[in-house]
Amino acid sequence: SQTKAEPMRVLVTGGSGLVGKAIEHVVKQEGGCLKGEQWTFLSSKEANLVDLQQTRAVFEKYRPTHVIHLAAKVGGLYLHMKENLHFLRDNLRINDNVLQTSHERGVTKVVSCLSSCIFPDKTTYPIDESMIHNGPPHDSNFGYSHAKRMIDIQNRGYFAQHGRRYTAVIPTNVYGPYDNFNFENGHVLSALMHKTYAAKKEGTPLQVWGSGTPRRQFIYSLDVARLFLWVLREYDEIDPLILSVGEEEELPIKDAVQMIADALDFKGQIVFDTSKSDGQMKKTASNAKLRRYLPDFTFTPLSEGIKKTCDWFVNNYDIART
Ligand code: NDP
Repeated sequence: SQTKAEPMRVLVTGGSGLVGKAIEHVVKQEGGCLKGEQWTFLSSKEANLVDLQQTRAVFEKYRPTHVIHLAAKVGGLYLHMKENLHFLRDNLRINDNVLQTSHERGVTKVVSCLSSCIFPDKTTYPIDESMIHNGPPHDSNFGYSHAKRMIDIQNRGYFAQHGRRYTAVIPTNVYGPYDNFNFENGHVLSALMHKTYAAKKEGTPLQVWGSGTPRRQFIYSLDVARLFLWVLREYDEIDPLILSVGEEEELPIKDAVQMIADALDFKGQIVFDTSKSDGQMKKTASNAKLRRYLPDFTFTPLSEGIKKTCDWFVNNYDIART
């Protein structure tokens, strides 16, 4: 069995996505990999984790001692509204395959990824880690949300029945290089970056879907990655941990739109299309628990992260997911 002194073999599912690429960067470029450790970053091309046989085969191949589980069927608000059942079923399967295969192969620690969009819709704010099951999530993405919530239940089960220390983190809205910049299916900031880039090129107004008034806490993907490594090495609880900037940094989407316009030097008109759905008006998350562990962690300021992401998008337009 694995002792703490042996080097880890870490398998990162969803290693080709926004968060996975950021973890890869921190591991390979910021000294996040310790001597003797082996890190593998998976994409769906190597194994479709909806399929149990493929999941087992990839675990057999890499024999991980630790797993960072990021793989998920994810999308923007509008895609979720269209395909709730699909999001529910694929994510239930992916999560069950990864957690049960990890258990069967003796993986000592799994850190999975929940999301702040799974929080109860009708709630008091700020929301903390103890409240995630207190009432149904927002209707727009109930499928994805319920599948994600089950990860927390499974983690409790693997601990109660098998003593496994499987846990989860809950990042708020992540943005950064390698995000999905698709207009319809991308996350809000990356879709807006792409729209702004296109509007500038074509000399047309920037059309923002929704009123711009919903408030969000945004976290830069590299900050998420640095925190993930700390959780993998140091965080010993089964209960999840919210990864977020402070409550006071929750801001209206229209403020972020202005930062994007500044970063891309867009001088045209900005139009808010209020016929499109806004989603939840706010989902203020508390980072008090994170702050108890890491009082001095410095988050990348939003304007700086947006500037870096816009620069990456412009310079990598050919490979960006659009
Ligand atoms: P991305 O969409 O950027 O990446 C998703 C990853 O999952 C990709 O590597 C993709 O592989 C992989 N994947 C999808 N389906 C399968 C499958 N059937 N089998 C194997 N791999 C699969 O997502 P993010 O990086 O944004 O998200 C990572 C995690 O963080 C997810 O669990 C998400 O729910 C969570 N999260 C994200 C937030 C955000 O704002 N982005 C906020 C909170 C949580 P491939 O590249 O081959 O398609």
